[in-house]
Amino acid sequence: MNTYSFTINGEAISSPQSFEVKNPATGELLGYAPLANADQVDQAVATAKASQIAWAAKSEEERKSILMQVAQVLTDNTEYLAHWITKEQGKPLAGPGSLFEMQACVGWTQVPASLDLPVEVVFEDDSRRDELHRKPIGVVAAIAPWNWPLMIAIWQIIPALRAGNTVVIKPSEYTTIGTLEMVRLMNTVLPAGVLNSVSGAGNIGAMLVEHQDVDKIMFTGSTGTARKIIEASGGNMTRLTLECGGNDPAVILPGTDMSTKAGDLFWGSFINMGQTCACAKRLYVHEDDYDSVVAALDAVAGQMPMGNGMEEGIVLGPIQNQMQFDKVNDLVEDAKANGASIIRGGQAIEGVGYFYPITLVGDIDNGSRLVDEEQFGPVLPIIKYRDLDEAIGKANDTRTGLGASVWGDDLEEAARVASRIEAGTVWVNQHGAIHPMVPFGGVKDSGYGVEFGVEGLKSVTQPQIISIKKAVPAEA
Ligand code: NAD
Repeated sequence: MNTYSFTINGEAISSPQSFEVKNPATGELLGYAPLANADQVDQAVATAKASQIAWAAKSEEERKSILMQVAQVLTDNTEYLAHWITKEQGKPLAGPGSLFEMQACVGWTQVPASLDLPVEVVFEDDSRRDELHRKPIGVVAAIAPWNWPLMIAIWQIIPALRAGNTVVIKPSEYTTIGTLEMVRLMNTVLPAGVLNSVSGAGNIGAMLVEHQDVDKIMFTGSTGTARKIIEASGGNMTRLTLECGGNDPAVILPGTDMSTKAGDLFWGSFINMGQTCACAKRLYVHEDDYDSVVAALDAVAGQMPMGNGMEEGIVLGPIQNQMQFDKVNDLVEDAKANGASIIRGGQAIEGVGYFYPITLVGDIDNGSRLVDEEQFGPVLPIIKYRDLDEAIGKANDTRTGLGASVWGDDLEEAARVASRIEAGTVWVNQHGAIHPMVPFGGVKDSGYGVEFGVEGLKSVTQPQIISIKKAVPAEA
């Protein structure tokens, strides 16, 4: 059985200690990931720091061209890396699964690689000219989660590199090998030291974010961990981009024809078995439309084969890990015990793997744990409302604010309702429809800072003003 390596200064580094990585669909041992120690974290940061000046000194065109080569490496290795995603994370090769994740990795590399942040003249008159230049921040620590392990790593790595920073990434301990392998492959075209990896659990992440030579932290994960990172950043005034969890509401306007929209709503809720930061996690439906919406969603759910995602035809995989599996079970059991009705699913599937069926839950409301807490799994509570003010009030009754959606046939009305929802993004007739040119980030406890597009690229730079006094023209 292979023990994989992380990459420091372009070299494969092993560690005396390692940990097991298992397939959540089969329980099969996939290999061993190296467990970094404090010296190795130091080494990775020191290498990133030493490499940053030369990387930033390259021309914009050189960095863009190298990142386009990275995109080609990702394209050439799509199948290899997609297999790692499916075996390690669980999402199937097919459907919106691991091949789709790899396509996103390529797109989210090409787009930042093609963006520019030209010098802005922020003020000019006869006496002065003030220019705003975008400078790299330095060493970026990237802390990634397990749900979209490679895609989210790419969101963190590529803009940082494009802007002239260097990176040390720590993947999630649940999905380590695919990311280590992706970093190894990217290093075949990147200059040594520009992109480094270390692996291990939260304590290794903590060593990284507390490091005095880290200048910026890109974090995606839970709000609890984000709070620890905020504290750690106090030591070094480290800049932060925090993408935390969400408990996204989806509101269907009264009388909406869902016959053509149910498929999009299904995937908006259940992509990656609901283990997606911006999935629809609570559905608000007018009481008169409840039966038809439930029937439409139930019909779509019935057509989705679940199983080992390496097999053909499978579009839904397992839950990724025991902790998440137990959390989903617990929330559904709590809902049942408190009078909710199970429309579909509602019971873990016995046997090998963390399989849990697509579950629709009715007779439930705000105040139930399944509605108020982020389930991060294949379970959707469906809540009846009587008027829109009630629905909007309940949608906003949460500490999180990552995404939300409004579904309606009148797009102007839907957009008006969307603007009343407290979330970083409110989609209309789609949910989770992210795009590499469109800024994405949360409000409230869902974090701060945005990723993607020009705004995302700015967030891995620091502004520098060059303020020039103009020469006074000589008297004629
Ligand atoms: P997590 O916070 O447990 O772990 C995320 C990463 O942080 C892992 O790599 C982990 O090892 C590391 N970590 C843990 N403790 C740390 C510390 N003290 N210092 C530094 N790093 C530390 O989250 P998770 O279980 O991987 O992901 C699930 C949660 O993340 C869900 O709540 C989900 O909604 C959220 N999430 C949000 C987004 C988003 O874009 N907003 C994306 C994916 C997941």
